[in-house]
Amino acid sequence: MNNYSRRDFMKWAGAASVFSAMGWPLGALAKMGRSAAKVVVIGGGYGGATCAKYIRKMAPGIEVTLIEQNKRYTTCPFSNTVIGGLKKIEDITHGYDNLRNRHGVNVIHDIAEEVNPAKKVVKLKGGAKLEYDKLIMSPGIEFMWGKIEGYDQAASEVMPHAWKAGPQTTLLRAKIEAMRDGGTVIIAAPANPFRCPPGPYERASLVANYLKKHKPKSKVIVLDRKDKFSKQALFVSGGEALYPGMIEWVSKSAGGTVVRVDTKAMEVENNNGFTYQGDVINVIPPHRAGTIAQRTGLADKSGWCPINQTTFESRKHKDIHIIGDSAIAGKMPKSGYAAASEGKVCAAAVVAELGGLNMPEPSYVNTCYSLVGPEYGISVAAVYRLTKKGITPVKGAGGGSPKVADSTFRNMEAVYAQGWYDSTVADMFR
Ligand SMILES: Cc1cc2nc3c(=O)[nH]c(=O)nc-3n(C[C@H](O)[C@H](O)[C@H](O)COP(=O)(O)OP(=O)(O)OC[C@H]3O[C@@H](n4cnc5c(N)ncnc54)[C@H](O)[C@@H]3O)c2cc1C
Repeated sequence: MNNYSRRDFMKWAGAASVFSAMGWPLGALAKMGRSAAKVVVIGGGYGGATCAKYIRKMAPGIEVTLIEQNKRYTTCPFSNTVIGGLKKIEDITHGYDNLRNRHGVNVIHDIAEEVNPAKKVVKLKGGAKLEYDKLIMSPGIEFMWGKIEGYDQAASEVMPHAWKAGPQTTLLRAKIEAMRDGGTVIIAAPANPFRCPPGPYERASLVANYLKKHKPKSKVIVLDRKDKFSKQALFVSGGEALYPGMIEWVSKSAGGTVVRVDTKAMEVENNNGFTYQGDVINVIPPHRAGTIAQRTGLADKSGWCPINQTTFESRKHKDIHIIGDSAIAGKMPKSGYAAASEGKVCAAAVVAELGGLNMPEPSYVNTCYSLVGPEYGISVAAVYRLTKKGITPVKGAGGGSPKVADSTFRNMEAVYAQGWYDSTVADMFR
């Protein structure tokens, strides 16, 4: 938070703690026969779990209910290490006990099926109806099945996307493990904007790392709908140093756009009618804001949700806030760290609004580590502020790994990547 004096902060913190201690002071609630404001959060991932926890930390008098369909959460961050055989799926899977027992979040494992913004009610698949004063959604992404001809949910069992971590991650890993030496792994990468801009290239690198050791005659082809990608120079130089000749990248201009898949023939076709055959094919389909956000009418024509970039309140419906991958958060990328940062800003906005306080001017942050190899890390970081153009990176704050660095430096970045993972997960779930 910036542009906020110490006096302002003391006032804000004081007011927040008063309603924390006394329960909810609004007369309107008393009339409704309630003593606490109700916040419902849909989605217990990076955005939602962080937001739910931080609302309770800032204002324990607020009743927070988190709706999450899965009993345990598998992180997409580090899921490429599972696909590359460096970690097990259990290493990246976490439970909700601390949110429940330590932070007093009411965690319900169910699917939010419908929202009535006029009545301010969320209906769950199990039949329960939950009233809210403020609703926060962080439902992640929904795949646009069929946009690539032949690529539907059934096809993803043959050609996994592994872009939501869990069974798809282990399926892709099993296919790579079972592949013959001399085989080809194809990764079809989506156009912008998409979840985790460096993700496909980290995946190509860690698959190559496995193949080099266990099936050295094999190769990885990345078919891309883009002509440039995140941390490109760093990925390319790292890949050439560690896996010379093993990874081929086909840009959009060179025919990387996959328009059709054939799961029986194990081939994909590009927009010039050229087919590529693969032994293992990983298709990352185009995606958009999560299903419940679409169903509630929160997305615009782009498929993503426009928001007030200070409070993350929807531009479509009052008292519904959207964070994480689903939201159009200015220049912030669709990353876990960004989602968590948005979750904290949104928590402050909701606590401030419910308490009749002014929202301090927010500051947002993103740091993204990628592994080119188990001992070769690269990173990019940025701090963001709100300007007339929306959430914008602050010039000179942050930056990327140097293009030239020795092996100790790259190794240290891989160590920091693990530290990043452990601390972000602790911030969500401990
Ligand atoms: C391979 C890969 C690697 C990545 N690596 C990194 C990385 O290194 N660093 C990084 O910062 N980011 C990384 N990301 C991106 C990161 O995973 C996402 O940006 C982040 O998870 C977004 O958080 P979110 O809260 O928006 O959605 P999610 O984390 O997907 O959480 C959404 C949650 O909502 C639940 N949900 C959805 N709809 C409903 C409903 N109707 N009812 C109940 N529950 C519901 C889902 O079950 C899910 O648990 C990676 C992504 C991928 C695919």
